[in-house]
Amino acid sequence: MKKITVLSGKGGVGKSSIAASLAVLLAEKHKIVCADCDVDASNLALVFGLREKDFDEWKKISTNEKARLDEGKCNGCKKCVESCYFNAIKWNEEKKQPIFDEFSCEGCGACEITCPEKAISLVQVENAKIGYGKTKYGFTVVSGQLEMGESGSGKVVAEVRKLAEEKGKGAEIMVIDAAAGIGCPVIASVVGSDFVIGVTEPTPSGLSDLKRALQMTRHFGIECGIVINKHDLNPEMSKTIEKFAEENSMPVLAKIGYDKNFVNALVNLVPIIEYNPKIRPVFEEILQKLPTGKK
Ligand code: SF4
Ligand code: SF4
Repeated sequence: MKKITVLSGKGGVGKSSIAASLAVLLAEKHKIVCADCDVDASNLALVFGLREKDFDEWKKISTNEKARLDEGKCNGCKKCVESCYFNAIKWNEEKKQPIFDEFSCEGCGACEITCPEKAISLVQVENAKIGYGKTKYGFTVVSGQLEMGESGSGKVVAEVRKLAEEKGKGAEIMVIDAAAGIGCPVIASVVGSDFVIGVTEPTPSGLSDLKRALQMTRHFGIECGIVINKHDLNPEMSKTIEKFAEENSMPVLAKIGYDKNFVNALVNLVPIIEYNPKIRPVFEEILQKLPTGKK
């Protein structure tokens, strides 16, 4: 199964809209599956008109651990408080015992190792849920959602991809919608991809964030191309992005002009390619440049 990942260094540049339209177009000729790996703000399914309640199944998962205290074993030595890099341990002067802050604890295990009385242990916590549903376009989308204040997003992405492999058995292509940025969930989305599409807008911050994201992609030796969305809003900056692409031997897959239908499509829960079919040639152009084997 070929894996095409759509990412953007910066949020709000149209990444999910572009990923969704590419998926719909690809599904006309290929068996595909989609993985929404933006687990902090998943909304790819919504772009296909699939709401949370329309999913076939959701299940809670655990990809993280938290520290727990066995009060009976604690001797009040206070060593654990100093061991926590994340300031997740406060001190209860009255009880002479530590208090663990669930939201700040990253489950690193330093306190468990430090405690001379073995009064601390790490326990699994349900920090996310993953689910899948069938879109009206005939393919399955798998989504993951990290619970509020929880960490471990990279591992949640790995679970989303695993479920997408399972539910998309026999598919030729997996379209992965990555989170914005270059953090853990993005790396977990990109690893093992056959091609990465970096979506940007013509702003200095858009380019700066795209550079970082594509640098990370290059680190993994993955081929990538660029889509400049709203290119006509800043032609000079668009030229700068094209120059960057040329200097780095990355193809500019498409330049999309500003189109308020992107917002209208989101409001109406359909991909832009369905809301405004006039834009279809732009997406066909992108597909022609992708290593999908066939158009
Ligand atoms: S597991 Fe790590 S982050 Fe959590 S309380 Fe212990 S030292 Fe702090
Ligand atoms: S290190 Fe262990 S024994 Fe010491 S205060 Fe912390 S929990 Fe209690």
